Amino acid sequence: MSLKRIMTAAIAMLAALALAGAASLIILTTFLHRTTESMGSAVEGVRLAEALQVDLLMLYRMSDSLLRIPSDSPRSAETIEASLRSHLAEARRNAWSPQEQALITEAERTISGYLLSRERVANQPPEQASRELIPRLESALAALDQLVTFNVNEARVTQARADRWDQLANIGGVSVAALMVLGGGALLWWMRRFVFRPLLDMSHAMRRFGAGRKRTRAPESGPAELRDMAHTFNEMANSLARQQEEQLTFLAGVAHDLRNPLSALKMSAALVTSGRPIPEERLQKTMALVRRQVARLDRMVGDLLDATRIEAGRFELSLEERDARELAAAVVELYQAGGSSHDLRLHLPEEPVLLSADATRVEQVLHNLVSNALKYSQTGSRVDVIVGREGNEAVLSVVDRGIGISNEELRTLFTPFRRTGRAREKAPGVGLGLSVARRIVEAHGGRIEVESRPGVGSTFRVRLPRAHPAAHPARPEDATPSPADTVH
Ligand code: ADP
Repeated sequence: MSLKRIMTAAIAMLAALALAGAASLIILTTFLHRTTESMGSAVEGVRLAEALQVDLLMLYRMSDSLLRIPSDSPRSAETIEASLRSHLAEARRNAWSPQEQALITEAERTISGYLLSRERVANQPPEQASRELIPRLESALAALDQLVTFNVNEARVTQARADRWDQLANIGGVSVAALMVLGGGALLWWMRRFVFRPLLDMSHAMRRFGAGRKRTRAPESGPAELRDMAHTFNEMANSLARQQEEQLTFLAGVAHDLRNPLSALKMSAALVTSGRPIPEERLQKTMALVRRQVARLDRMVGDLLDATRIEAGRFELSLEERDARELAAAVVELYQAGGSSHDLRLHLPEEPVLLSADATRVEQVLHNLVSNALKYSQTGSRVDVIVGREGNEAVLSVVDRGIGISNEELRTLFTPFRRTGRAREKAPGVGLGLSVARRIVEAHGGRIEVESRPGVGSTFRVRLPRAHPAAHPARPEDATPSPADTVH
């Protein structure tokens, strides 16, 4: 599973929990507000009913003229009646349920009944008046009692409901908190186990690798991204180890290949400086050997320098218009002048094959191909150097009848420091010439091809873009030079 997916799922889960918590908080506060309102209205209902009862009793006590009871109240009967009406109106406004409205209607009815009978008995004797008034008063007080009881019950129901919600809120709050703590804890545990540990392992592996323990590899575990990272590091470590191995092999190869010409030079120098008389013929042979070895050393050091320049990106061409025939002829002449022990032949077309090229570099490529052809074929065997044209390309081929290269070896032929098994036994070299040659040809916008069969021979073909192709249209006969073109 990928780290991105797991983190997204965890964050979505925690966000959902937080949202659920916020939503329940909003619902809870809304409900709390309603509960407070309904509780307030119930209390107000009780207060108003009791105020009405007090007003009624005070009005009864004021009936001194009727009942001969002395009145000590500072309020007049009219004020109390007005207060009764205003309390009734207030109670109606405060009532929000149909049942309470019905109870208030009943209270209004009984109170008005009491007030009417109070006016009616104003001129009657006290005993008779109180006989008529007391039942009316009692029924009005009973109606108000019902109103009080109703409001008290309402308050109780509201309180019970609030208690239930309180419990629910407690359970919900604790559950959400527990889930968040558990979710967060699980996420932390998972991160520790599957993210931090693999990361730490990887960082240890990198540190160990950096400290020189080149066999160290990072464990490929944890989420996909970390596995990828560890895999990339391991591949990089493998490739570094391979490169290091190749460099060591290369150094060993260079040392080994330098040793042969150096010991030949050492022996020649010892012979010349021995002080003994040396026959002329022997001296000539020794000098020829010295020349060959110095040339070989020069080529090896040149290849090494070029390879380093190419790797460091410091490889520049100085282009000029040159005839490919001249370049090929110069290389072949050099070998022929040096007394080549092979049958080296040059084939040139009659017309110039113009290139926009760095002449020294193209000659270097041809040198490499010709020297390989000579190195990896029998003394006396034939080697052809052919210059031709194919379409807009100049084709420079070097054909030998030597040891050849197997298909498997062909695949890595241009890789630096690669040498085929049989070539290693046959001739010294570091395996850089072809890789340098390919880079030079590619820098000219061309390509290098090879055809080879073990035991039969090899053909290396360098294809370079011709300069001003329009001025020299391709002709089919250009591709292969005629025997008349041959220069021996
Ligand atoms: P070097 O010749 O110094 O080893 P090169 O890069 O020129 O390096 O060649 C790389 C390898 O390619 C040689 O070691 C040899 O194995 C193989 N090779 C190149 N040219 C030929 C050839 N004409 N015939 C057979 N093998 C060849």
